[in-house]
Amino acid sequence: MKADVFIGGGGIGGLTLALKLVQRGVNVVLAERMVVKAPTYKGELLQPKSMQIFDSLGLYEQICNRSNEIKVLDMLELSSSLQVKDQSFMDYSVLPGKYNAAYMMHHEELKTVILKAACAFDNFHYLKGVACKGYGDGTALLQKGTEKFEVEAQFFFGAEGRSSVTRKAMEVEVKQTTYNHHFLTVTFPRAEDFTDGKIISTYNRFLGLFPLPDDQVRSVYLIPPGDYKALKEKPISHFHKLYTDLAPVVDGYVQQLLDWKKIQLMIPVMYHADSYVKDNKAIIGDASHAVHPMAGEGMNMAIQDADVLGELTADMFERQQTDLTNLKWYEKVRYKRADHVIQLSHLAALAYSFPFKPVSYLRQRTFERMEEDPILHFKQMLNVSGLGMWKENVRDRFIQGGIMPVRIKDLAKDTKELRYYTPEEDYPWKTEGLI
Ligand SMILES: Cc1cc2nc3c(=O)[nH]c(=O)nc-3n(C[C@H](O)[C@H](O)[C@H](O)COP(=O)(O)OP(=O)(O)OC[C@H]3O[C@@H](n4cnc5c(N)ncnc54)[C@H](O)[C@@H]3O)c2cc1C
Repeated sequence: MKADVFIGGGGIGGLTLALKLVQRGVNVVLAERMVVKAPTYKGELLQPKSMQIFDSLGLYEQICNRSNEIKVLDMLELSSSLQVKDQSFMDYSVLPGKYNAAYMMHHEELKTVILKAACAFDNFHYLKGVACKGYGDGTALLQKGTEKFEVEAQFFFGAEGRSSVTRKAMEVEVKQTTYNHHFLTVTFPRAEDFTDGKIISTYNRFLGLFPLPDDQVRSVYLIPPGDYKALKEKPISHFHKLYTDLAPVVDGYVQQLLDWKKIQLMIPVMYHADSYVKDNKAIIGDASHAVHPMAGEGMNMAIQDADVLGELTADMFERQQTDLTNLKWYEKVRYKRADHVIQLSHLAALAYSFPFKPVSYLRQRTFERMEEDPILHFKQMLNVSGLGMWKENVRDRFIQGGIMPVRIKDLAKDTKELRYYTPEEDYPWKTEGLI
């Protein structure tokens, strides 16, 4: 079997990359080792930049129709007696333009939508139940059951997630950082009118609720490492109470979970590979970076990697400029953006990592100020959205810390839009040239 591009892994990253390439006429073979739907929960929150990318791929309407739009994340800080002490909002509508909301969509359903769109192209070859075992000379070494075979290609892209064989073949190491907490995660029914996201915390507890379509809600609840086993031995009513204590809105719904079977353990990790590209190979998504799930960015980073690598590779084939060094453009665009998001997610994680009252007080103050100061609010939402990057400066930190007063005046729409990545910044080789 022969292709222009071989992709290892049919998660959101690999599928988005495949769709992007086949739409531009590139011949793609994708191998996905799983035959059935993945049993574990994964990312489900689509940030505005991902929506912009899916719009360019012709999937925007389909995704909107199958997801729950989230305009606002409601951040509630509760007292020890579980009374609301403070409330602030992360509001996507401070972002001007079409992409001013996040969307919650079932992970496997999103994969199905992208796969279906890619399968409409004759130049897409999807190998289901086929594992990539490594690489030979210009070939990917594949295995289906006991049968072994090879695919010849010009480029090999690894989208196999955390345990990437392509990353291994590229001899790229990752150093994993772990956290002082784990999460319980589960999806269960919700009230029809509960559609905005909620992050509810006390000084030592955290619950995130992210409404999905079909009147369901995905939840994450922070626990100390090692507590999962002991928790599972308690009656399920103990789990219900952990949730209803913090979020009365789930009372009557979370109780529909009748045992611990669906409640999974999620262990957050962080890493960033030193490099994404070597010779004719590149890695995207979780193969190249993992972020703490607090800011809901993991899947979005995979989509954004796929967009840039896909556009670049398609341009290389179209212009017949397939020199391997061109692949470095992908790393040049994506590395610093991904690094910034990793740091943002890490900081967000730290804000909830330490179960002490002064930390909770500082967190509450920071969120309050972020909401009151329109520039801080815009910066926060811009960075989270993926539409642009605007780092916080010393003045911002002073405002957050209460040392300087908040700014009252909001930025004009045009000034905000100047902070969005331009097509020249997303795809700089189009103007600067390929070799
Ligand atoms: C357990 C878990 C829970 C998560 N929960 C959240 C969350 O709540 N919120 C959030 O924002 N993010 C979450 N994430 C992160 C988010 O889901 C990922 O960042 C995102 O799915 C990355 O997409 P990807 O395509 O790079 O990798 P993946 O989604 O991991 O897809 C990789 C695919 O490659 C396949 N594969 C692997 N090895 C091979 C091989 N050798 N040959 C062929 N195929 C192979 C796998 O079967 C899989 O389908 C979670 C991640 C994990 C692992």
